[in-house]
Amino acid sequence: MSETTTEPQVAATNGHAAARAAAPQAPTASRAPVRWEYAPAPESTDHVRLRDRYGLFIGGAFVEPAEGRYAPTINPATEEPLAEVAQASAADVERAVAAARAAQGAWAALPGLERGKYVFRIARLIQERARELAIVETLDGGKPIKESRDVDIPLAAAHFFYYAGWADKLAYALPGGGAIAPRGVVGQIVPWNFPLLMAAWKLAPALATGNVAILKPADTTPLTALLLAEILQEAELPDGVVSILPGDGSAGAALVRAEGIDKIAFTGSTAVGRDIQAALAGTDVGLTLELGGKSANIVFEDAALDQAVEGIVQGIFFNQGHVCCAGSRLLVQESVAEDVIDRLWTRMQKLRVGDPLDKNTDVGAINSAAQLSRIGELVAAGVDEGAGLRQVSCALPDRGYWFAPALFTEASPAHRISREEIFGPVLAITTFRTHAEAVEKANNSNYGLAAGIWTDKGSKAFEVAAKLQAGVVWQNTYNHFDPTAAFGGFKESGFGREGGAAGLRPYVRQGA
Ligand code: NAP
Ligand code: MG
Repeated sequence: MSETTTEPQVAATNGHAAARAAAPQAPTASRAPVRWEYAPAPESTDHVRLRDRYGLFIGGAFVEPAEGRYAPTINPATEEPLAEVAQASAADVERAVAAARAAQGAWAALPGLERGKYVFRIARLIQERARELAIVETLDGGKPIKESRDVDIPLAAAHFFYYAGWADKLAYALPGGGAIAPRGVVGQIVPWNFPLLMAAWKLAPALATGNVAILKPADTTPLTALLLAEILQEAELPDGVVSILPGDGSAGAALVRAEGIDKIAFTGSTAVGRDIQAALAGTDVGLTLELGGKSANIVFEDAALDQAVEGIVQGIFFNQGHVCCAGSRLLVQESVAEDVIDRLWTRMQKLRVGDPLDKNTDVGAINSAAQLSRIGELVAAGVDEGAGLRQVSCALPDRGYWFAPALFTEASPAHRISREEIFGPVLAITTFRTHAEAVEKANNSNYGLAAGIWTDKGSKAFEVAAKLQAGVVWQNTYNHFDPTAAFGGFKESGFGREGGAAGLRPYVRQGA
């Protein structure tokens, strides 16, 4: 893909080559350069059996949508349809709310230990079907199989395990004490970047606390939520405790406005988050919003630079940059900026872009044509505004939606590429001289979801972290998730926390 082979290092680190080089007769000068290319290593899709058509999951069964509408979900790496999926309308939302209300009393009345057993069972079944879920996540959304396999699916199971553990200990979970009651029927709307994982973040705490839920997956990635519906059936979760309503934005809007909903949990764009907040203003429907971000990854001059470069790459190219907490703004101390950018550029050219099902792929397909054009528009704006664009040159597949990893140098804080979420594999780089300037630049954003700090000095990391307006601050790592850790934002990144004991709070009424 690129001119990145470095023969001297390869010879030095390869035992056999070194041994041969040591032999007196070896004509080292005339040896042909060794290129270490990756052979294709595609994950087999043999054991994945998708249905041709999926209905809505209401009251424990797959049912026809009221308006009879179906839409294909496609594989963004090939543009081929994978299955037809029912599209929920307002009438379906009403049906799901009725099923949920009918189920809620008995579910809430179950002893926590019993509810926990169901949640635990869901976790186990996700593990049992992990390989299939990983493949389907990759087919439907375009993310590399190594990410679905090693991150999305195991973390989704971990969230169910973690909240299963809280179900019988709710009295000890939150400060303040008092009786704890579920909110009731919760509507949950998730985006396309981590489809099953976001469903797990939402469903696991809701179920553990005795709520019943109606989940609206994203338009482009409904399939793993529908496989989860099969898992819920297999777990014998009582009918109506979870309904899953695939559909477009109008289904989400109907869910937000439905009679009989007690709480909405939303992850997605700030624009839709605002619309939801306006729709619910003045009602007593609870709301949590997990919106976008423009997170700063700050590299100080005393950082271990090679590790920092790995963290920068992980921060912005993980999941093609379709990550709300992506480290999309790199702030690097001026004294090491040139060095860091050189190392980063060298590393970027080694990223393997292409078939998401290939186990070696680092950067997969962009999730949809719409997202690809949004990325293209913002990158064009960056060029127009005068930032310096460098984009990896590599062979991309003929079909599907692709965007080669890119960076912008001299990205001024006023540029759109520094202010707006690109949600793609594009990094905006700027420099700073002092701690104070780093903090000021990092906080100069409408968002405040996450940040990274790279330094060898613990005291510096703590001092800077305390001044950052960011829900999560990683030190010498990035995009590290754990179900025990709360996640959420400041400012336009939203409010409410998911994960950890704090993630239970939005789903309960305390002192009830
Ligand atoms: P989005 O439009 O906010 O979609 C998120 C979810 O909300 C999807 O399930 C979507 O359904 C649904 N939805 C759309 N319009 C709605 C409405 N009026 N009322 C209720 N629900 C509605 O986000 P997107 O278009 O997928 O992505 C656009 C931008 O959002 C991205 O570029 C990125 O900036 C941000 N984003 C953030 C996150 C995050 O994790 N914070 C995740 C994804 C996207 P449909 O899929 O059917 O439209
Ligand atoms: Mg799809």
